[in-house]
Amino acid sequence: MTIRKSTPHVNQNEGLIFERSSPGRVGYDLPPLDVPEPDLPLALGRENVREPIPDFPEVSEMDVVRHFTRLSTWNYSIDGGMYPLGSCTMKYNPKINERVARLEGIAATHPLAPEQLVQGNLEILKTLADLLAEVTGMDAVSLQPPAGASGELAGVMMIRACLRERGNPRQKVLIPDSAHGTNPASAVIAGYKVESLRSDAHGCVSLEALESAMNEEVAALMLTNPNTLGIFEKNILKITEIVHQRGGLVYMDGANLNALMGLTRPGDFGVDVMHMNLHKTMSTPHGGGGPGAGPVAVKKILASYLPYPTVELSPQGQYFLDNDRPRSIGKVKAYYGNFGTLVRALCYILANGPDGLKEASSVAILNANYIKHKLRDRYDLPYDEPVLHEVVFSNKKQAQQHLSVMDIAKRLMDYGFHPPTVAFPLIVPGALMIEPTETEGKEELDLFIDAMKAITTEAETSPDMLRHAPHTTRVKRLDEVQAARRPVLRWKP
Ligand SMILES: *Cc1c(COP(=O)(O)O)cnc(C)c1O
Repeated sequence: MTIRKSTPHVNQNEGLIFERSSPGRVGYDLPPLDVPEPDLPLALGRENVREPIPDFPEVSEMDVVRHFTRLSTWNYSIDGGMYPLGSCTMKYNPKINERVARLEGIAATHPLAPEQLVQGNLEILKTLADLLAEVTGMDAVSLQPPAGASGELAGVMMIRACLRERGNPRQKVLIPDSAHGTNPASAVIAGYKVESLRSDAHGCVSLEALESAMNEEVAALMLTNPNTLGIFEKNILKITEIVHQRGGLVYMDGANLNALMGLTRPGDFGVDVMHMNLHKTMSTPHGGGGPGAGPVAVKKILASYLPYPTVELSPQGQYFLDNDRPRSIGKVKAYYGNFGTLVRALCYILANGPDGLKEASSVAILNANYIKHKLRDRYDLPYDEPVLHEVVFSNKKQAQQHLSVMDIAKRLMDYGFHPPTVAFPLIVPGALMIEPTETEGKEELDLFIDAMKAITTEAETSPDMLRHAPHTTRVKRLDEVQAARRPVLRWKP
């Protein structure tokens, strides 16, 4: 099988910048000093400021440029190829949104600038909050949380505040076993005990399990929809009804909004509070830890608990920050969140319009189902249901050759692709969770499908080769445990 796509790096052996250092080499060329050198009081300088800084690499401008340019090409990026990392929504982010976010009046505004000087920026925030409420069918939105998990925590804290005020505090949150790992973490941080709900044979919440678990101790159900199997909860109306009838609230993890936009609205199927991941669905390059935005949207019953400040419009047509919110759970992030990410999200919504958002979701769903259909003969499908934005296979067939999901994932790198998410969700042993997103065209999807098929052939013919993959990348198979437990992050002479 020829490798159709792999592009080894121009320099596979780039050293550290320290190793390029040569005494006396400099990266600048300045005329000799023609003014007297001032005698700075030592107290004004850093300690040892007059001493030569030890171990600082001495390199030329070209050394620096080549070194960092080469390093920059080692990262696999969405601008370089498909990145089918399930649940992470690694999709193409239009460059125009980056341009807009960098406009001086947007990027350089001081967060403490007086309201009357930043009416435009406040209008951006208010417009975005209103549009997100429209897309989700919710009543009010806080843009403050800087990540999905942060939105979850804010949401669960609002549930807690509301139930306490009703004089009916409860201790537990129910979370399906297919949930994203951040859900139980958020519930626990907010002070709740977590009870796991098992899924049924179709990968959805078991109504029986919900019926028996939903009692007066349960504050909320925390539901990812579509869930991490990529499956929409068919019984969502029944689910929200059961929870509400017994005095609980429904939290929806809406990180996967790119499966729902323009097609259905959580606010219409009984969700009380949810978060969105704008950095996933609405175009901010992410990975590597941020920045992000995880706005939290609520129904009227929870609106007064939203983090402060919210952005409001006065009857006189002035935008202002409303800090006077006595029931608010408080702030969850400085100022009003990651403004640049919020700007990109508004660009994304306005550029697409209602029809465009609907099309994005529809294509995301089509792409995932295309991959499911094309690979279903080669890989085991633990839950063979129609999927939305992602599809979960398992390595059950390849496990007969004693191949792990890691072997498959590593081999995919030889074909020039970022591996999918593996070993998650936890309810699928040997999971391969693939999310193509709506931004991939058919040609790229077919290349990916060919590579995944080729690997299944290799699993039959040369399983040992797979066990040592990748073979064409700069570094070969890493010791994952050592890399995580004993990373070497500092250079020492
Ligand atoms: C990504 C994701 C999260 C967490 O979002 P962060 O921004 O990484 O904190 C939560 N739930 C689901 C379903 C996700 O896909």
